[in-house]
Amino acid sequence: MADTTQKEVLLDVKNLEITYGSGKKKYTAVKNASFQIYKGETFGLVGESGSGKTTIGRAIMRILPTSGGEIIYKGEKINGKISKTLDKKVVQEIQMIFQDPQASLNERAKVSYIVSEGLMNVRKDLSAAQREEKARQALLDVGLLPEFASRFPHEFSGGQRQRIGIARALIVEPEFIIADEPISALDMSIRAQVLNLLRKLQKERGITYMFIAHDLSVMQYISDRIAVIHKGDIVELAAADELIEHAMHPYTRSLISAIPMPDPIRERGKKLLTYDPNMHDYSVEKPQWRELRPEHYVLCSESEAAAWSKLYE
Ligand code: ADP
Ligand code: MG
Repeated sequence: MADTTQKEVLLDVKNLEITYGSGKKKYTAVKNASFQIYKGETFGLVGESGSGKTTIGRAIMRILPTSGGEIIYKGEKINGKISKTLDKKVVQEIQMIFQDPQASLNERAKVSYIVSEGLMNVRKDLSAAQREEKARQALLDVGLLPEFASRFPHEFSGGQRQRIGIARALIVEPEFIIADEPISALDMSIRAQVLNLLRKLQKERGITYMFIAHDLSVMQYISDRIAVIHKGDIVELAAADELIEHAMHPYTRSLISAIPMPDPIRERGKKLLTYDPNMHDYSVEKPQWRELRPEHYVLCSESEAAAWSKLYE
């Protein structure tokens, strides 16, 4: 776990809005999202499928344009039009690991090419042989054999393919990795191995993670802080323990109620909470981002703030 007391802000997202399509087909996938990610921490972004998590990740990567707000990386605005130098810096320092290792690797390319491709942009000084050598080292770093460099993706299992994806991200020595549901598509038996690998790499290299997941069960153990997103709105944000123990937004509370309990008796007696967005009356009073407990933010109206603050008295 990172020491977040020093709190050097690496990424500052302010009032971010991201829309798809235009005219009648215009759809706002992310609305007014604000959060900061501290250097060295694991920042969890959790929400059900379709809530806008990947969209946020892709906007930070500059793959997707933004329609409002700012994304500030190390003090510089990186959304919209930026200089070539800054673009190059972002391409090198921010990497993404994808959800589906079956779909995210180019089947026709050799592993050495897949892993070293990113170097062609950011390390033009390297020869083909030097890139190959770095690819072999990156494979070793993620627990694979360097010999795998000359093979093709279809020869590997899901877990191995995800390690190849991690090697591909690592090779450019990133500072910030967006891990987009990196274990969701993997067999239960190998999920822990991939998580341990990510944790080890963070420890060794001081990498900052934005870790995306659709449920809280794993998130609570790996994240320093967690943001909860519902249909494009970030509804709650707090340190992981604080969020689990003192959740205030009813959507967060429903996610927590769905976490499987290790004790079968408690699991059977567990009450699932369902979340109905119609419970909010925001017709008169629009919800605002409020700090209801120290460093614990919730999207709510004033009357909700008063009621939810009493939950843990
Ligand atoms: P998540 O990663 O949380 O599952 P996404 O960010 O992929 O969610 O998607 C958020 C919303 O944006 C969804 O409603 C999805 O259907 C929509 N969306 C995603 N990609 C596109 C696209 N290329 N064009 C139009 N809508 C999209
Ligand atoms: Mg997604």
